[in-house]
Amino acid sequence: MSLGAARSTTRPTLTSTAPASGAVVGEFPVHDADDVAAAVGRARDAAAAWAGLGFDDRRRRLAAYRGALARRAHELADLVHRETGKPHADAVLEVTLAVDHLAWAGRHARRVLGRRRVAPGLLAANHAAWLEYQPLGVVGVIGPWNYPVFTPMGSIAYALAAGNAVVLKPSEHTPAVGVWLADAWRTAVPDAADALQVVTGAGETGAALCRAGVGKLAFTGSAATGRRVMAACAETLTPVLMELGGKDAMIVDDDADVAAAASAAVWGAMSNAGQTCIGIERVYATSAVYDRFVAEVTERVRGLRPGTGDGAAYGPMTMAAQADVVRRHLDDALAAGGRVVAGGTVEGRLVAPTVLLDVPETSAAVREETFGPTLTITRVRDAEEALARTNANPHGLAGAVFSRSRARAMDLARRMRSGMTSVNSVLTFAAVPALPFGGVGDSGFGRIHGADGLREFTRAKAITRQRFPLPVDLMSFTRPAGAADALARVMTLVHGRHR
Ligand code: NDP
Repeated sequence: MSLGAARSTTRPTLTSTAPASGAVVGEFPVHDADDVAAAVGRARDAAAAWAGLGFDDRRRRLAAYRGALARRAHELADLVHRETGKPHADAVLEVTLAVDHLAWAGRHARRVLGRRRVAPGLLAANHAAWLEYQPLGVVGVIGPWNYPVFTPMGSIAYALAAGNAVVLKPSEHTPAVGVWLADAWRTAVPDAADALQVVTGAGETGAALCRAGVGKLAFTGSAATGRRVMAACAETLTPVLMELGGKDAMIVDDDADVAAAASAAVWGAMSNAGQTCIGIERVYATSAVYDRFVAEVTERVRGLRPGTGDGAAYGPMTMAAQADVVRRHLDDALAAGGRVVAGGTVEGRLVAPTVLLDVPETSAAVREETFGPTLTITRVRDAEEALARTNANPHGLAGAVFSRSRARAMDLARRMRSGMTSVNSVLTFAAVPALPFGGVGDSGFGRIHGADGLREFTRAKAITRQRFPLPVDLMSFTRPAGAADALARVMTLVHGRHR
């Protein structure tokens, strides 16, 4: 049963509105701690049967779910468009990525997590040794509003494929999308309908989920809220996955394809109105390419038309408060000596595509996550200086390198202090389901997507089985007195030659 309608008349509700028009998208209950406990209880009841289905039967049901999402992609994208303000086409792209991850997680769960035999080693040569990855039971997922399908699905798909049930708490700004995802599950997978639950509400509902005794809490959001979530989870020693914000940089090296780099930087910075955790927020371009790069970016940005109608490059800021953050960063950058070469205006929730030059590294526009359609471009001596500046930021989510030298680009990518890096493109790693997704430093820890994302929602289980007894049992009080000397001799033979 969905928690939605039944008790909504007697308890507080939250209203979801379209950022573009203010029109009401939906009204949803504010679930309290009792509601959350009930949802977790239903999920826990469903979890045993869901885990018991095994990899192949779960895979078939995950396929039915992704089939439903694929068939209803436009309907879901329309809801995402209305609730977040992003263009419909971008919402379709988001749904497509989520469907791809559902497919990968379902197909690869057995290979990554299934029981396997491992070598027992010398000391346990008479035993068989087994490793398997078991589900955690119920996984709580708290998601943000900027990618309300793709982001939570990075946890939901992998947690379900690993055999867990899930309770989703969508952002209070996108509850309709969260409820839609859970309803679509119930319809597509009726015999495991309770394996995906949704609870709606604001921060207190999320905090209740942290304290509800789930097996793991997968959080995506800001570092500030992440700290609160960790503190709440610490009370019950609930493990956490933290997917937090970024301040991603692009490095444009001497030999880069400047036009391609400019095009990618503009998309990476401006699409979804810059409200992308892995969006490009700052560029470090070497002296050799800086002037050309700035000219290319400026020309492209001037051709962008944000707004609410068809064909708009991006929409209004989803949250009014986020426009205030962008305004603060702009003001700070200008006060510190920065220059605007394109955009620079914030009207209501609509932020013009903005390019800033000469902004000091200490400015909020370079240090903190702006989460708006803005880009700082900084001239650097060479790629090494670019890398040093990139890595000096406490965030470390993702980034990009543009260079025609494959070896040089790969070297820079490896040394970039981030969880993910694209070479000669932006954001591409997010579209490769086999690759893990997550950050370092203030961008969090743990991984969704890929084999690591599947393992994230499991606990490793080790089993040994004695195949035959040895004449001398070393782990027994009956072992002979000389056993230790014999063991030391064997150890010297095997390992002692290494110096
Ligand atoms: P917030 O941190 O404000 O909120 C994230 C979620 O936490 C929301 O569902 C929110 O609910 C909930 N929440 C708020 N307070 C609490 C609490 N005390 N206990 C438990 N849950 C709580 O982030 P935003 O929604 O504003 O999302 C934007 C942020 O997310 C950016 O920093 C962005 O970079 C990051 N992000 C990171 C990604 C990644 O994969 N690394 C991907 C996408 C975004 P409510 O909204 O109802 O207040």
